[in-house]
This record gives sequence, C-alpha cells and structure tokens, in this order.
Amino acid sequence: MSSYSDVPSPSRACPDCGHTYPRSVAFFHRDAGNRDGLKVRCRDCVCRAERQRYAASAEIICQRVRKRYAARAAHFKAHVPRGHGPSSFPDTKDDHE
Ligand SMILES: [Zn+2]
Repeated sequence: MSSYSDVPSPSRACPDCGHTYPRSVAFFHRDAGNRDGLKVRCRDCVCRAERQRYAASAEIICQRVRKRYAARAAHFKAHVPRGHGPSSFPDTKDDHE
C-alpha cells in the first residue's frame, strides 16, 4: 500500500499567510503552469504583493510605458507615409481617442 496519490487534497495552505483554503478559484488565482491549475499563493497574498510591487515602482512602470509609447509613435511616424493607409497618425492628436 502506498500513501502516494494523484488526487490533490481538497484544501491547501498558502505559504505566505499560512491560511488553509479550499482548492478553488474562489481562493486561488488560476495558473495553467501549475499542477493543480491554481497559483501557489492565495488571492489575498497575490493581490497584496502586486499592489506593493506597483506602489514601489509606479513611476518606473509609467516611465517604461511612456517610453514604449513614444518609441512606437516615432516608428509609425518614420515608417508610415503621411496620408497613406486608413489610420495614419495625425500630428496634433496624442491620445487614444
Ligand atoms: Zn495567502
């Protein structure tokens, strides 16, 4: 007789907060790369970590997005001939409208 089982137990403890939750998407985010299809950490811990990460580096993330936007705008300006194509970049408009 073996104690090994492929059937996951119906509940699982989050390694961050130590709480034991039912093995369900109500308590864990989905993660297709994981054996049971759920993230290792519970929803609360994942959300808290993401919030902290963003709060710590919001300015860096914003700068990166702005840089990418500017690079893309420059690329289209350089490679799409003015007045050609259905969506050539208007010079004066700089938003997503
Ligand atoms: Zn947790």
